[in-house]
Amino acid sequence: MTQVDTAPSNFIRNIIDSDLQSGKHQVIHTRFPPEPNGYLHIGHAKSICLNFGLAEDYPNALCNLRFDDTNPVKEDADYVAAIEKDVRWLGFKWAGDIHYSSDYFEQLYDFAVELIKKDKAYVCALDAQQTREYRGSLMTAGKDSPFRNRPTSESLDLFARMRAGEFAEGSMMLRAKIDMASPNMKMRDPVLYRIRFAHHHQTGDKWCIYPMYDFTHCISDALEGITHSLCTLEFEDHRPLYDWVLANISIACKPRQIEFSRLNLQYTLTSKRKLHALIEEEIISAWDDPRMPTISGMRRRGYPAAAIREFCKRIGVTKQENTVELASLEACVRENLEAHGPRAMAVLDPVKVIISNYDENKTEKLIAAVHPKDESMGTRTVTFSREIFIDRADFREEANKKYKRLVLGKEVRLRNAYVIKADQVIKDDAGEITEIHCSYDPETLGNNPTDGRKVKGVIHWVSAVENQAAEFRIYEPLFMVENPAGAENIHEVLNQNALVVKHGFVESGLSDAPAEKAYQFEREGYFCADNKDSSPERLVFNRTVALRDSWGG
Ligand code: ATP
Ligand code: MG
Repeated sequence: MTQVDTAPSNFIRNIIDSDLQSGKHQVIHTRFPPEPNGYLHIGHAKSICLNFGLAEDYPNALCNLRFDDTNPVKEDADYVAAIEKDVRWLGFKWAGDIHYSSDYFEQLYDFAVELIKKDKAYVCALDAQQTREYRGSLMTAGKDSPFRNRPTSESLDLFARMRAGEFAEGSMMLRAKIDMASPNMKMRDPVLYRIRFAHHHQTGDKWCIYPMYDFTHCISDALEGITHSLCTLEFEDHRPLYDWVLANISIACKPRQIEFSRLNLQYTLTSKRKLHALIEEEIISAWDDPRMPTISGMRRRGYPAAAIREFCKRIGVTKQENTVELASLEACVRENLEAHGPRAMAVLDPVKVIISNYDENKTEKLIAAVHPKDESMGTRTVTFSREIFIDRADFREEANKKYKRLVLGKEVRLRNAYVIKADQVIKDDAGEITEIHCSYDPETLGNNPTDGRKVKGVIHWVSAVENQAAEFRIYEPLFMVENPAGAENIHEVLNQNALVVKHGFVESGLSDAPAEKAYQFEREGYFCADNKDSSPERLVFNRTVALRDSWGG
């Protein structure tokens, strides 16, 4: 029994295949273990697609969602809710109930007591400074703590009293007794528990000692019967400790930790801590700002979940550190929307066109395809009238032959409507064009009429009598440099054009455009209604992605 044929293979799937073939495992069980200290970002999407994707592809396999919540100071229930929503939106389902590492605090405590009883852990009273000094460096061995050989009974008593709240924060800790001379710094008597008088979003004020990540993670995995514990490369040197803890406590399940490389993306920060800093420094006001590489930001911007999944599939899973081009993420979004995004017309920088030979009292409901290549998406009606708006950039008083739009004295075809000819321009005192007077040919209705006219240019338009005013938010990457994480001062690499706001009009049919659903505004790009700021009274559209790649991919 191996994976389904359509799944792209990778070194982790190869390991799993051989574990199934050898009979080491009958069923695969993975987990996605976010710490609820921020919102999920595109890097997490890679891990989600990997872990939940394995569960989907292998027979009877499961993937847990577990909140790795051992640091109450930085965590919050709001983050828990946002993470659940994001995983579900990406299209994945976790096995059974949601898990929390904090569910296991009692068991973790018991395992810690077991380690003390086996003389594998001790209560240490060195302060932070001393602990650092005793740990040594990569070049020099560490020194044993003076508390290392205190009697087991003493550590047991002190550990119980730590739990009971008798000692101040930082005055005591529980440490594993491993090897202060180990070349792996993580193995130099790592801290297992510390004192924190902090309220926890799940356990309230029940605990004042909290287990450390390295102690908690492996035990949580084992308690849940995880077979393959997948994490990013920075955990490679934690693996001996992961295995040490499980080898020294009474637990049968021994999950295997496997590391893969993080996703790094051009022009993008993929670290919750750094994204958090953008909010703290008021560079960005919210985690779901469409300029953020968070899942909620991308959703708000109109990225389809399927496009993010496709991106994660294309980048693959390896142990190689690399940086993925932003263009490849945008290409996945664009390909999805090219195929599935309904078409509509919007004018972002409007100038009025008056069609002098069109009846003043007349409007027409013209029929247009919702998608030119997908008839199943049906048709829509677009109102045509004597006065319309076109984009300022689509008109010139004079132009050479390369300019295939409206030119004074020349013809252009209006998308889904008629051929018009520009006869005259009206300007204000400042010389700005306020009206373009045109005439239309009633025999030219439709996009591909057999009118035999050689009109090359086609431009989009919106009726000036039946439309919806709209705000358009045009986004570019938040940073001007490919590797913003390497910038000394983040303020210096901010892209001042990351958000540009325009005001114009959309087809009247878009007054109830559902939020987050991207349309192709013909010739302008893909846009979706904003899920916070848009309402039928005040439409706000986010540009999801431009029509073409402009990032040199
Ligand atoms: P950050 O550095 O953004 O805070 P983290 O690793 O601390 O990330 P967690 O909430 O602990 O965040 O991550 C949950 C899971 O997502 C972990 O297994 C982690 O390895 C994985 N993950 C986090 N960032 C990335 C990334 N850029 N690429 C792939 N996987 C990632
Ligand atoms: Mg982490």
